[in-house]
Amino acid sequence: MPKFVYDFTEGNKDLKDLLGGKGANLAEMTNLGLPVPPGFTITTEACRHYLEHGTLPEGLAEEVNAHLTALETAMGKKLGQPGDPLLVSVRSGAKFSMPGMMETVLNVGLNDESVHGLAAQAGDERFAWDSYRRLIQMFGKTVLDVDGDLFEDAVEDAKRARGIDDDVDLTADDFKGLVDRFKAIVREQAGREFPTDPREQMDLAVQAVFESWNAPRAILYRRQERIPVDLGTAVNICSMVFGNMGMDSGTGVAFTRDPASGQQGIYGDYLQNAQGEDVVAGIRNTVPLTELERIDKASYDRLLEIMETLENHYRDMCDIEFTIERGKLWMLQTRVGKRTAAAAFRIACQLLDQGLIDADEAARRVTGDQLAQLMFPRFASRVDGVKKITKGMNASPGAAVGKAVFTSERAVEWAERGEDVILVRRETNPDDLSGMVAAKGVLTSRGGKTSHAAVVARGMGKTCVCGAEELDVDVKAGSFTAPGGVTVGEGDVISIDGTSGDVYLGEVPVEDSPVVRYFEGELSAADGDELVVAVDRVMEHADAKAAMAVRANADNPDDAARARRFGARGIGLCRTEHMFLGDRRRLVEQLILAEGDEERQAALDALEPLQKQDFEGIFTAMDGLPVTIRLIDPPLHEFLPDLTELSVRVALAGDGADPRDRRLLEAVTRLHEQNPMLGLRGVRLGLVIPGLFAMQVRAIAEAAAARRAAGGDPRPEIMIPLVGAVQELEAVRDEARGILDEVRESTGVDVPALVGTMIELPRAALTAGQIAEAAEFFSFGTNDLTQTTWGFSRDDVEAAFFSRYLELGIFGVSPFETLDREGVGRLVRIAAEEGRKARPGIKLGICGEHGGDPDSVHFCHEIGLDYVSCSPFRVPVARLEAGRAAI
Ligand code: ADP
Ligand code: MG
Ligand code: MG
Repeated sequence: MPKFVYDFTEGNKDLKDLLGGKGANLAEMTNLGLPVPPGFTITTEACRHYLEHGTLPEGLAEEVNAHLTALETAMGKKLGQPGDPLLVSVRSGAKFSMPGMMETVLNVGLNDESVHGLAAQAGDERFAWDSYRRLIQMFGKTVLDVDGDLFEDAVEDAKRARGIDDDVDLTADDFKGLVDRFKAIVREQAGREFPTDPREQMDLAVQAVFESWNAPRAILYRRQERIPVDLGTAVNICSMVFGNMGMDSGTGVAFTRDPASGQQGIYGDYLQNAQGEDVVAGIRNTVPLTELERIDKASYDRLLEIMETLENHYRDMCDIEFTIERGKLWMLQTRVGKRTAAAAFRIACQLLDQGLIDADEAARRVTGDQLAQLMFPRFASRVDGVKKITKGMNASPGAAVGKAVFTSERAVEWAERGEDVILVRRETNPDDLSGMVAAKGVLTSRGGKTSHAAVVARGMGKTCVCGAEELDVDVKAGSFTAPGGVTVGEGDVISIDGTSGDVYLGEVPVEDSPVVRYFEGELSAADGDELVVAVDRVMEHADAKAAMAVRANADNPDDAARARRFGARGIGLCRTEHMFLGDRRRLVEQLILAEGDEERQAALDALEPLQKQDFEGIFTAMDGLPVTIRLIDPPLHEFLPDLTELSVRVALAGDGADPRDRRLLEAVTRLHEQNPMLGLRGVRLGLVIPGLFAMQVRAIAEAAAARRAAGGDPRPEIMIPLVGAVQELEAVRDEARGILDEVRESTGVDVPALVGTMIELPRAALTAGQIAEAAEFFSFGTNDLTQTTWGFSRDDVEAAFFSRYLELGIFGVSPFETLDREGVGRLVRIAAEEGRKARPGIKLGICGEHGGDPDSVHFCHEIGLDYVSCSPFRVPVARLEAGRAAI
C-alpha cells in the first residue's frame, strides 16, 4: 500500500509531485533546521483517489491517526483538548502554486471548551475568542459553503453597534457574541451545527481541501496557466502558531530580493497582532518589513539570517510567509518566487556572480518569452491631458500611438503617407491583414486572446488590445464611443498599451526598450545598464552553446540588415511575392493578361531588372551569409483586383466599361478558385506559366554575379515551394540549373547556388527520401504543413473555432503558434531522417512562424535541424532558445 502521509521531517523539496509545493518546501525547511511548526502532509495521491472514487483511500485514516498521535506527543498536548488544546491549520498545497485558488482553514481544534483552555494558556480572552470566531468563519465558508459575506456583515454589524470602525477595538465579549452569531449563520445556511469535535473538524477540512481542487475558480486558473487537470492537491496539517497574541506578535510576507527589479534588499510587509491572511487581505495597513527592526530586533535579525540561508540553499530568489508569536519567529511557507522578466535576467546574473549557479543554470533561469517581453516598446510616462478611456485585454504587448482609423484601406492609405495609425475595429478578419500590417497597433471591442486580431497581432509582434467591450465601434460612421461620453473619430490620436490593456485618448510618449537598443548596437554592455549587461551575458553564453544557427525571414534589405544586427546568420526565407506589390502589381497584371509568348516575355522582361535590384540589395545586407530565396508562391489572382469589386465596376459601367477592366475580369474569373491555398500556386505556377520561374532564377543569378564582380560574397539558395512529388522538383530544378549555367557563361562569374525545396505538404514529408535526391536542402514550411496536416485553413480557423477547441482542451495552444510535435512534428522528423539518409549532410531548416516559438525551437534542436528562421524581431528570442535547448 502506498504511503499517504509524510511527516515534515520525512519529505524534501524534490517531492512536489507527491507533497505539493508547500508541503515539499515545509519539509525542506524543517530539515534545514529552520523553525517550522511541526506537522505532516497528506499526499496528492490520496487526493486523486478521493476525487476519483469519492471516498478516502483505505489505510489513510490509520496513517493520519498515527501521525496525529506523534504530533500530539511531540507537542505535549492533544488536538482540541480542553485545558491546553493543540490547534492545527489544514492547508492546501498543489504542485504548482495557485495563489488564493484553494482553501486553508486555521485554528482547527477550537470549540466551546477548548477556547477557555486557549484563553487560559495565552492569558488572553480576546485572542482566544477571536481565534474561535475565525475558525467558524473559515470553516463555514470553505467546508460548509456558507456565503462569506454573511460573516463579514455580522462583523460590521458588531462594530456599528459599538460605534467603532477597526477590528482591533473589538473586545473579548464582542467576539463571544460573534461566535454565537456565526454558529447561528452556519445553522441557518448549512442546515447543520458547527462541528465541535476537533477530529471531525480536521477530517472535514481535509476533504474540503481535496474538493477545492475542482472549484470553478481553480479549474479556470489551471486552464489559463496550462496546469494539468489531474494532479490533485496535497493537504498540510500544521500546528498553529499565533501572530494575534498581542503587539509582540504578528505576521508577514517577504521576498529575498525585489521581484520587480531583482535588487537585493529587504522587501516585505509586516502586520502586528494579526493572523494569517490579514496581511494579504489588506484589512489593516501593514508596515514595511524594515520597520520590524524597530519593533522586534531579535526576530528581524533572525529573519534576515534565514532569508540568506534560503537563498543560498535554493540558489534562487524565494518568497516566504512567517509569523512571530510573542517574540518567537516561525516560518510558515517558502517557495522560489515569481518575478518579472527584467528581474529574471538580473537575478540570474547576480546569482552567477555570487557563485551560486553556473552560466548554464543562469541561461536555464530565463526564457525566450521573457526576453520577448523586454523587447517591446513601452510608454515612457503619462502626460497631462491624456486620459485613460477604457481597458481591454492585453492581447499583444507593446505600446502604440497613432490616429484612429476604422478600415484597412484607410490604414494603408494614411500609413503610406507617413502617418502613424491605430486600426480600430469591432473585430478583425483576414481582409484586415494589410491594415494590421500598416498600423502601429490594433484595437478591437470584441473577441478574446485567441481572436483573429490577437493571434495575428502576436504573430506580427504588433501591439494589440482586444475585447475592449466598453467601446462602441461604428465603422460606418468612422468613430467609437467610450464610457463618460467620450467620442473618438477618425484621425483622433489614441494610445494603446498592449502590456496592460489600457487605452488612452491623446498621445503618451513611447520609448524603445533598452534591450532593443542593445541589439541594434546603440547601447552596449559597457554603458552599464544592469539589465543590458545581464542580457548580454546570457546571450553570449547561449550563442556559444547553440547547435543550430538562427536565420531570419526577410524580403528587403532593411529587414535583412536589422536581422543581421540582431544576430541572424543568414536569411531562411525571402518571399519574392512581396516584391510584386505596389506599383509592380501593374506588371504582374500584364503578365497574367498577356496573350501569346511575346507579350508574356515582355512583361517578364520588365520585371526582371526590378527583381535583380531587390536581390542585390539583400545579398549586400547579408554578404557572406546564406540567403534562401523562395520563388513565387501565392496564387496569381492575389495580385489582381477583387472579383466582386471588379464585376460591379464593369457592370455599372455597362457598355462604357474600360476594355482593360473587361480583360481583367475575364482573367480574374478564369483564375478564381474555390480553395486557392490548395490551388494553382508554388511549384505549380512554375510548371504552368512558362518563363516565370526562369525570370526569377535569372534575376537571382545575375544579382549574385554582379555582387561577386563588385567584390561581394553572395550565397544564394534557390527554394521551390509547395512541392509534393520529386518529379515537380526535378523539372523546375533542371530549368534553374540551365539558367544558372547560362548566366555563368554570359557573365563569366561563377557563383555557386544551391537548389532545394520547401517541405510543406504531407506527401513531400512522406516521400522526402526521393525528394532529397533532387534537393540540396530542405526548409520545413510549417505554416502550410500544419494547415495541410490538420486540414485547417489558417486564415479562417482561428476566428471560427479555435477558442472553442482551446476551451475543450483539444489542444492547449494553437498548432500555428507552437509546433504540434505529435502530428506535424512527426512528419518533420520522418522527412529529416529520410532526407539525411538519401543525401547525407543535406541542409535542414525551418522557416514557418514556429521558428521563433520557444517550444518549437527546442523541438528543432532535438531532431537536429541546422537552423531555424524567424522574423527579424524574434531572432534574439530564437538565439536564446537555441542555446537553452543545447544546455
Ligand atoms: P495560501 O496558499 O493561500 O498562502 P496558506 O496555507 O499558506 O494559504 O495559509 C494561509 C495563511 O494562513 C498564511 O498567511 C499562512 O501564513 C497562515 N497559516 C497557515 N498555517 C498556519 C499555522 N500553522 N500557524 C499560523 N499561521 C498559519
Ligand atoms: Mg501561503
Ligand atoms: Mg507555404
